[in-house]
This record gives sequence, C-alpha cells and structure tokens, in this order.
Amino acid sequence: MTAKGVWALDRFQAGPTGSGTAGRIEQGELLVAEQVVGFKKIKFDTMENVGAGEVDLPQQEMQTSGLWLTLRPEVLAGISPDRDALVDGLRGLAYLLHHLAPLFLMCDVRDLGSWLGDAAAARSRSRGTARPTGPDHRAHAGPRLLAAEQFEPTVYLYDSQPGGVGLTERLFELIGPLLVRARETIRACSCRSGCPSCVGPVNEVGPPRQADDGHAPRPPDRLGPPRPGP
Ligand SMILES: [Zn+2]
Repeated sequence: MTAKGVWALDRFQAGPTGSGTAGRIEQGELLVAEQVVGFKKIKFDTMENVGAGEVDLPQQEMQTSGLWLTLRPEVLAGISPDRDALVDGLRGLAYLLHHLAPLFLMCDVRDLGSWLGDAAAARSRSRGTARPTGPDHRAHAGPRLLAAEQFEPTVYLYDSQPGGVGLTERLFELIGPLLVRARETIRACSCRSGCPSCVGPVNEVGPPRQADDGHAPRPPDRLGPPRPGP
C-alpha cells in the first residue's frame, strides 16, 4: 500500500482539451512523491487477503515530465453537484487514459503513471518556498490537499522514468484523439459500473453504490494525494 502526491513544478505547454472549451491540458515538469505505508498478506493460491500491517519507509521522490488535464468548474458542476461522484468519475477517467495512452505511444502501461490530484492545492504548496521535500512535506502534504477549499480536481499522467523520455510531450500532441478514443471506449463497453477494460475494476474505484447509472463509477474516497491505496 502506498501514499502518493503529484505537484507541478513547471509548465512548458498548455492548450484546450480536444473539443475546445471543457477544460485545459498542460504539459511540464512534475514532482511525484510516493511512500510505502503498509503491506497486505495475500494467500499464495487463492489471493485471499489475510491481513495487513503498517511500515515506516522513507519517501521516494522523482522529477519527471507529465501532462495534466483540468476540467472547468462549470463543466464539473454540470455533470454532478456531488463532489465524491465527480472524484470517482475522474479517477475512472485517469485509469482509462493511463491504459489507453500506451496504445498511442507504443509503450508499456508501466512506462506511465497516473494520479488524480487537486491542482489548486498543489499550486499553493509549491508557491513561494522551495519544492516539497523532506519531513515537513511528508507530514503536511496529505492534510493540506484533503482540506483544499478550491475544488480543482486534475488528472495527471506522467513518465515513469525520472526526467522523462518524451512520452508526455508526444501525448500532449495526441490528446485530442486520446480523449475521443476514451469516450468511444466507455460507450462501447458492456459493463454497468466499471470494469478493467474501461474505467477500472469496480473495487478499485470505490465502494458499491445502491443504484447503478450506466457507466458511472462507484463513489470514491475524498480527493487528494497522498492517499493510502492498494
Ligand atoms: Zn467496462
């Protein structure tokens, strides 16, 4: 189980999303911080979860190139007034873009990472002082992001290689076709509430919801990195 956070350090390119007005796409340099915070005990044959525990390991940080997509608040409000539902949907979008992008880039899915974070909180963190490093960052990044008042959920895709090997620069040029393919994939998928072929396995996008509404993923945890995850 890991906790993660992503912060934009520098922006090199920016533009509208494929259709023009729904949001903006930016490309630049990111800081990705990750920390292993626990472990699960899995039965070898059945993959049954038979326990878990906490570990105290140092945080790993990487500077790399990335691309991030932020939808306009009016667009989000038009989709749903429920922040949890929006976060859950965007988490599904992050999964989908992460798994479709390698088809456009001719790379492996592990060559990219993805994350749903809050751009407004991340900006306030990196403004002014040096970039987030050290014990202060470890202690405060999570609560700071969770408590963000300005709701600006942002889908990040980043290069898994430190420094980046040019994947997200290329992806910035391909974002229009990528978003079109994402929409087609969701429409074409026969599942009702998320599956590994579209927005991700149901148990990865949140606890069950009472009534399914088409492809809407399940309700999530609160937005914000770093968050313990599988
Ligand atoms: Zn599906």
